[in-house]
Amino acid sequence: MDLELKGKLVVITGSSKGIGLGMARGFAREGANVLINARSAEAVEAVARQIADEFGVQTIAVASDVSTAEGCQKIIDAAAKAGGADIFISNAGTGSNETVAEAPDDKWTDFWNLHVMAAVRLSRGLADQMDAKGGGAMLMNASICAVQPLWYEPIYNTTKSALLMFSKCLSSEMVKRNIRVNTVNPGLIRTPDWENTARELHGDAWEDYLQDVANEHADIKRFGSVEELADFCVFICSPRASYSVGSAYHVDGGMLKTV
Ligand code: NDP
Repeated sequence: MDLELKGKLVVITGSSKGIGLGMARGFAREGANVLINARSAEAVEAVARQIADEFGVQTIAVASDVSTAEGCQKIIDAAAKAGGADIFISNAGTGSNETVAEAPDDKWTDFWNLHVMAAVRLSRGLADQMDAKGGGAMLMNASICAVQPLWYEPIYNTTKSALLMFSKCLSSEMVKRNIRVNTVNPGLIRTPDWENTARELHGDAWEDYLQDVANEHADIKRFGSVEELADFCVFICSPRASYSVGSAYHVDGGMLKTV
C-alpha cells in the first residue's frame, strides 16, 4: 500500500528516543521529512543526522522543551521555515509516581503543561500551516492510562485523560479545516525507559520483571515493540486513513479490560 506520505513534513515531539523515534523512522521509511524534537540538543541532532543518512529524507532538529510556550513556538517557527507541517504528533510525555495526598501543586502544573498545553499550543500553531496546504492530520499520543488508570501514577492518568478529551474537542473543530485529529492509547511498549527502570529496580532480573508486568496486564503476555506501535500511527496519520476522525485507538495487546 502506498501511504502517500512522500515529501510530507511530519512534526513529532519527543522524538529523540523511544516511541517518538520509532514514529520518526516509520515516517522517514515512507519518504516523509521529519522534524525531530526533544530537550537534548545533542540527541536531536544525532537522530536527525542518522535518519537523513539512512532514509535520504530531509530532517530538522529542534531542541526545545514543549512544556513551555517558547519551546512550542520554536517548533512552529522551524516547521514554517521548512514549508509548513502536514502532520503533527504530540508524543513527548513521561510517567509519574505519587499519591494525591502528597503531590505538590507544582507537579500537577508541570504535567499539565507537558501533556496538555504542549498539544494545545502546537496544534493551534501548526493548524495554520496545514490550512495553507489544504489540510493535514494530527495524532495525540495519550495512553491506556487515559481510560484505565495504574494506581501509582494519578497525575499521569489525569493529564493523559485530559489530553484524550482535548483531542476529541479539537477534532470537531479541525475537521472543518480538513485536518483529521485522532488519539492513540498505547499499552505496554518496550522502550529504553521501561528497560532502564526495570534494571534500576531489579538488577540482573530485569527481564523477568518486564515479563511479570506483561503477564499481569496484557492478554498477549508481552510488551509491544516500538515498531508495532509506530507502524499503526504512521498509517492513521496517512491519507489512506482519510475516514478516521476523532477516534481513540488502543494499541495495547489486550490490556484494556472494557469494551
Ligand atoms: P521516552 O522516555 O523513551 O522518550 C521520551 C521522549 O520525549 C524523549 O525523546 C525525551 O527527550 C522527550 N521529552 C521528554 N520531555 C520533553 C519535553 N518537556 N520537551 C520535549 N521533549 C521531551 O518515552 P516513551 O517513548 O516511552 O513515551 C513516549 C510517549 O508515549 C509519552 O507521552 C508516554 O506517556 C506515551 N506512552 C508510553 C507508553 C510506554 O509503554 N512506553 C505507554 C503509553 C503511553 P529529552 O529527555 O531529551 O527531552
